[in-house]
Amino acid sequence: MTDFTYDLGADGVATITWDVVAKSMNVMSTEGLILLDQLIDQALADEACKGVIITSAKKDFAGGMDLNVIAQMRAGGAQAMFDGVMQLHGVLRKIERAGMDPKTLKGGKPIVTVLPGTALGIGLELPLATHRIFAADNPKAKIGLPEIMVGIFPGGGGTTRLVRKMGAMAAAPFLLEGKLSNPKAAKAAGLIDEVCEDPMAAARDWVLSAKDGDLVKPWDAKGYKMPGGAPYHPAGFMTFLGASAMVHGKTMGVYPAAKALLSAVYEGALVPFDTALKIEARWFTNLLLNPSSSAMIRSLFINKEALEKGANRPQVEDQSVNKVGILGAGMMGAGIAYVSANAGIEVVLIDASQEAADRGKSYSTGILDKGIQRKKVTEEKKAEVLARITATTDYAALEGCDLIVEAVFEDPGVKAEVTAKAEAVIPETAIFATNTSTLPISHLAKASKRPEQFIGIHFFSPVDKMLLVEIIKGAQTGDVAVAKALDFVRAIRKTPIVVNDARFFYANRCIIPYINEGIRMVAEGVNPVLVENAAKLVGMPLGPLQLVDETSIDLGVKIAKATKAAMGDAYPDGAVDEVVFWMADQGRLGKKADAGFYSYAGGKRAGLWAGLADQYPRAEEQPELTEVQHRLLMAQVLEAVRAFEQGVLTDIREGDVGAILGWGFAPWSGGPFAWLDIIGAPRAVEICEALEAAYGPRFNAPALLRDIVEKGDSFYARFGGGQAAAAA
Ligand code: NAD
Repeated sequence: MTDFTYDLGADGVATITWDVVAKSMNVMSTEGLILLDQLIDQALADEACKGVIITSAKKDFAGGMDLNVIAQMRAGGAQAMFDGVMQLHGVLRKIERAGMDPKTLKGGKPIVTVLPGTALGIGLELPLATHRIFAADNPKAKIGLPEIMVGIFPGGGGTTRLVRKMGAMAAAPFLLEGKLSNPKAAKAAGLIDEVCEDPMAAARDWVLSAKDGDLVKPWDAKGYKMPGGAPYHPAGFMTFLGASAMVHGKTMGVYPAAKALLSAVYEGALVPFDTALKIEARWFTNLLLNPSSSAMIRSLFINKEALEKGANRPQVEDQSVNKVGILGAGMMGAGIAYVSANAGIEVVLIDASQEAADRGKSYSTGILDKGIQRKKVTEEKKAEVLARITATTDYAALEGCDLIVEAVFEDPGVKAEVTAKAEAVIPETAIFATNTSTLPISHLAKASKRPEQFIGIHFFSPVDKMLLVEIIKGAQTGDVAVAKALDFVRAIRKTPIVVNDARFFYANRCIIPYINEGIRMVAEGVNPVLVENAAKLVGMPLGPLQLVDETSIDLGVKIAKATKAAMGDAYPDGAVDEVVFWMADQGRLGKKADAGFYSYAGGKRAGLWAGLADQYPRAEEQPELTEVQHRLLMAQVLEAVRAFEQGVLTDIREGDVGAILGWGFAPWSGGPFAWLDIIGAPRAVEICEALEAAYGPRFNAPALLRDIVEKGDSFYARFGGGQAAAAA
């Protein structure tokens, strides 16, 4: 165990160096903390030691707490967790007090941190406990407390220290939004103290010349007042009152982390520092025991990372993409070209006319120009990225491409034609991918000479913003094609899921029933305001009616017609079509037409459209909020379970990560399968039975769900390691 090493210099300055073996980024483990504690004791006891610099041997300081450790800590129960957190506070508080006399505040040893690069989570909380933070001038470094993004809050004293250091208002973006800054911005905000060319030398000078008073934190000094005012100060009162309303408005009250954070901040602000730490620890423990936070950490951190690292990648050699050919430079093709070129991949962007190809390339110019305006992109970077994109109509330019991504019109004939044209030019080993959203991959593969090298890579719109990519295996798709698609998705820094070929694959299969359920309710006379708010209050980013407006009503009509043609008598969505077709007849095609389920003013939503009530009069009796929410959630969740049961989805981790990243499924729940585990399979079946009795067989509980009830099981207990339903 050598996470930290101690080295006393001839000048009396000790360096404690963090370097977790076999990891590219330092993370804090329980053992690491114990060792750090021992080394601090050693430094404080060593007469020859005048002060300490804590730094890292890696290019970055630290990425945070080892979240796997947090996951394990839960097993010990509330008291063990609280004790663990208090132990962490004890070590950090020891560093902060640095051996000084608690009454006179004299006689402590200066302890500082030097950040060579990124410092996140505990990687910033530890520095915040030291007496001064020096950072290298490394514009790529990210400094901040991103815990809230995975459903927890900074529980290593970061919450209490930051609020006391900068005031609740100034700390809010860092704590509540997980805002990350580069060193210069972090210094300007007051997160760190110095940014320098040679931070080690500056830190050493500071340590050797520090006076007793330099080591006393404001909150330990006499007469400390919280910047911006504590809760009962008139200014502070406004902040605390406003913060609570604002956070609730943004989170709809479904994220326990935001509530627990605010409670820790508010209650902590009323008491002395050490008591505030204890309060922080209580709320942190409370949060860690909340199933929502564990589900969020599991999906948004542990499993997301596992999928990105290739948890489901076949064991074949590296398939890095060097040159990608993109067929069709429309909305999707242009976006795929940008993300590829931005990741350093050479791109040939083909369309039927030079003008269309150029227009596709200019999409990248637009994004890069916006980046320049926001100072995120340099002119050199823009030139580099654009130079990688060749916009042309000439298929000969595809020579040497090791991957093709086809994004032409959603028409099998057009797709077959471009497949043949590309395959005539590309190397025999190249992989051909289609971005189709509705056509079966196995069917499109018939146009290919090499169906085992044919695959679906399904992007979401807008490509540069959406984090998920669905990889679809056709009946004959081989391992190399899957590996190629995964290596490509990894290079463009998105999260992949791998699914089998079936109607609408995974994401669209689940989201369509959500939209349809919302529309069905409108037809039944449920107040659309209730439908939309019920969705948001259960954590969906958009209500179903807003979502259909965004994606357009005519797309809905198109999909409905195609699905009906394919399913024949088994088609179940007649009631939905009636509404959608009527809307289309009224010319209310959604946001793009400035008229849909919502009214619009200047492209902005201006309330639900009043005319809807004339056609679909409101029922006198409106359903309970919970019932509407159950319908909206179950419509999606049952489809996810069926997709898993049928082997379309082969890993529930992909089902959960894909749902959150693909269509924003209530992130607080950790995904559809995690939600079922939170409410428990018996309760889920009970809900299904009630909904089925009232609304019909689409809510029939799948056999797999019933089996889980029978065996007293849960989805994650049975399938959490990535086991497929068929194998269980
Ligand atoms: P689009 O109409 O914006 O772009 C299609 C482009 O293909 C056009 O620029 C067109 O000129 C070009 N094209 C047509 N025939 C061609 C040919 N023979 N040779 C070369 N270029 C040709 O459509 P889009 O929205 O970008 O969709 C493209 C594909 O992506 C479709 O298969 C669609 O189902 C799929 N998709 C779309 C979305 C979405 O949200 N729009 C999401 C996922 C997948």
